[in-house]
Amino acid sequence: MKIISDPLALQQDLKEIDKTVGFVPTMGALHEGHITLIKRAREENEIVVVSVFVNPTQFLAGEDLDKYPKKDDADKKICELAGVDILFFPTAEDMYSKDEVKICAPNVRGYVLEGATRPGHFSGVLRVVMKLLNIVSPTRAYFGKKDAQQLHLITLMVKQFFMSVAIVPVDIVRDSDGLALSSRNVYLSKAQREEALKIPKSLYAASKLISKNILDTAKIKEEMYAILAPLEIEYAEVLNRDFEMIQKVEIGNTIILVEVIVGETRLLDNIWF
Ligand code: AMP
Repeated sequence: MKIISDPLALQQDLKEIDKTVGFVPTMGALHEGHITLIKRAREENEIVVVSVFVNPTQFLAGEDLDKYPKKDDADKKICELAGVDILFFPTAEDMYSKDEVKICAPNVRGYVLEGATRPGHFSGVLRVVMKLLNIVSPTRAYFGKKDAQQLHLITLMVKQFFMSVAIVPVDIVRDSDGLALSSRNVYLSKAQREEALKIPKSLYAASKLISKNILDTAKIKEEMYAILAPLEIEYAEVLNRDFEMIQKVEIGNTIILVEVIVGETRLLDNIWF
């Protein structure tokens, strides 16, 4: 496995390779969720590139940028074992300069849900993903459905900017207790983790209602809020896959999304119908 930090060197290396390239962008502290993306990229491409970069522009002032978990050595080992060909490990200086051209998240879909609680977050995400995709020029890029809004906005960006990469969504990987895997789960104490299980429970309750043909979104949200209630709920929302409000669940076109704060930790989860 090659480890490269210079964006131009990586770009040059990949230009010389006439093979399909699967790309998995991450912020490191890799877990089974990331590994699932990497394995999928491994199955579907001749070359696999993973990036580990804690992108400063997607963190708001006062967020956990400085304490975001770092596990560089473990990440390198995990990538090596997972058959990654190139690990891209840039610094913020490698990726950004002063007075930059910027791209912005769309006014509506970039500023609802997580975009409302973290204004500007998705502009930072799109900025870095645009840079990463231009550096790697992958055939396919893999993103988790866990960050459903991020996945949606990246898919929009690729379409609206006529970029030629295929965006591949990958299902959420959960721990045995149902909690979606996240690098931020290490922040949770044992008691907080117990509390956090209300998130998958609320999604399970929603899916039970839907299986009984109760499709009224207000009713579903009411049930979810009742389960989540003691937690600090940022949102629990039932939307279509274009991130628009709906009155009734449309099977095959609906996402139910939750964001809560447990202690100081922001946790996201969702389920697709
Ligand atoms: P992150 O390092 O948290 O920025 O995540 C990098 C990529 O891994 C993103 O596309 C995430 O959506 C994806 N990812 C993170 N956690 C999971 C999970 N539990 N299941 C599936 N994909 C995930």
